Amino acid sequence: MAYVGELDTGQKIYLENQGTQTLITSIFSGSGQQQQSSNSISTGSWTAEPEMYKTSNGVIVEITTAGGKYCVQIQGSSMSVMNETPSLSKERQMQMRQVESTPASSMPPMEPMKPMKMGDMEMKMNPMEMRMGNMQMRMGSSTSDEIHQSKRRFCSQCGESVHPNDRFCSSCGHRLD
Ligand SMILES: [Zn+2]
Repeated sequence: MAYVGELDTGQKIYLENQGTQTLITSIFSGSGQQQQSSNSISTGSWTAEPEMYKTSNGVIVEITTAGGKYCVQIQGSSMSVMNETPSLSKERQMQMRQVESTPASSMPPMEPMKPMKMGDMEMKMNPMEMRMGNMQMRMGSSTSDEIHQSKRRFCSQCGESVHPNDRFCSSCGHRLD
């Protein structure tokens, strides 16, 4: 069971007790865009329903557990556990609704990964390929391609592929041994 509090800014704050963790999820939804951030705080099991209070600069969530009270300040998408329990006036308490669970995070589709290159190290995705100097690792490629790949050599200087019989790199002229 989770609780959700809704702010007039369009932000929704979900609270869920998962074992001894309290999961706090803040969701901003605007024009087709959704921004979601979550924090998990070790609080222990709840002994009462969580309470939410509106403050001048955000929201304070009060969680009551067997181990005591935890106050979490939420400002925008940042959350921090407060060291001291602030004085919370009941007038500012916000309504919370019970919901089944915190909505699963809707991650934006992952951008295709670009090849990574650092010095003589290179990494590619799909098929996964990693290259460091003359060493190469490859996954997910066809067998025939792998055999072909294993015969290939790479210049230790510039990383270009070189013919197995080449004595010098055709790209940078580095002497191959
Ligand atoms: Zn070279």
